[in-house]
Amino acid sequence: MSAIDTLINSTIRSDVRAAAGYHVADASGFIKLDAMENPYQLPHHLRDDLAKRLADVALNRYPVASYSTVKQRIVDKLGVPAGYDVILGNGSDELISILCMACATQDRRSTVLAPTPSFVMYQRSAQFAGMDYVGVPLKADLTLDLPAMLAAIEQHKPSLVFLSYPNNPTGNLFAEDDIVAIIKALDGFGLAVVDEAYEPFAQQTFMHRLPEFNNLVVMRTVSKLGLAGIRLGYLSAAPQLLAEFDKVRPPYNINVLTQVAAEFALDHVDVLNQQAANLRAARADLTAALARLPGVEVFPSAANFILIRVPNSDDAYAKLLSRKVLVKNVSKMHSVLTNCLRITVSTPEENSTFLDAFAASQAA
Ligand code: PMP
Repeated sequence: MSAIDTLINSTIRSDVRAAAGYHVADASGFIKLDAMENPYQLPHHLRDDLAKRLADVALNRYPVASYSTVKQRIVDKLGVPAGYDVILGNGSDELISILCMACATQDRRSTVLAPTPSFVMYQRSAQFAGMDYVGVPLKADLTLDLPAMLAAIEQHKPSLVFLSYPNNPTGNLFAEDDIVAIIKALDGFGLAVVDEAYEPFAQQTFMHRLPEFNNLVVMRTVSKLGLAGIRLGYLSAAPQLLAEFDKVRPPYNINVLTQVAAEFALDHVDVLNQQAANLRAARADLTAALARLPGVEVFPSAANFILIRVPNSDDAYAKLLSRKVLVKNVSKMHSVLTNCLRITVSTPEENSTFLDAFAASQAA
């Protein structure tokens, strides 16, 4: 064994050594329909104004540690209820990790539970924080298996239950009553984290229900709204809980450029909301067009992506790639997703390029 291998074996945890990295496909030159990005930039005149604002930012100073201005903008513009604050993360990815670090115990008995398939970072963050992870399979129609969820909660007493609302990669919204039943089942020992990353496309939220449940945590991101590049997630919960999470958050985790860009963009949130409305309309068109293709099963989506089942997903994925269209092949994630592809809704032009390439892939 080489010296570096010996060093790695004696320093890096065995489960980290055994883990695969979070793979992100290289998308240069492709029509990028794999990562649920908003395809629209801010309009040129706003980008020019933003550039002027950014030019004045003091890069030599640490960010203002309280983030008060950007937090206030989020509270005012993004529907956080009166009396509730937020904590910010470098994307909601960081918030997931902060939640896990805050709840992990040293004896590995604390558990993260989530329906499966769902967003992969719940499992990864739980594992890297040293927690147990329990995935409860969705039903074949991709809805929540509530009895199984409740039984698993009873058995494992999880500290955290993550519910992606709508769910990634399936795109559906779980029943509101089922989520409420889960929040209530966790009362007194566990936190229900409703992950509303796709809220701009679902327009359904638990944010206004925060005052009803002291164990409810609502997490969102500005990524899907059109600001994925600035990496900003936010999370709201009872102030006492936020104070605990905040102890785990690395100081200055939101850089000055992100703060200024977020403040600026949220001053123009109408522009972002209009883009989301355009994408909701494009989702309806793309769903209808896909449903007309023979042999394709289209699952209803409340997000900015659509899950489809095709006769042979690996073949369709490869043929799309050869036509420079990148989608996500989720068929290996879980047996309920056999032969499934996840397609991000984009501009009408990119959607029709995808449809042409996809129809050709199915015909060939
Ligand atoms: N939650 C869900 C359900 C997601 O699908 C994603 C991104 N794909 C995230 C959180 C992370 O978003 P970000 O880190 O960009 O805020």
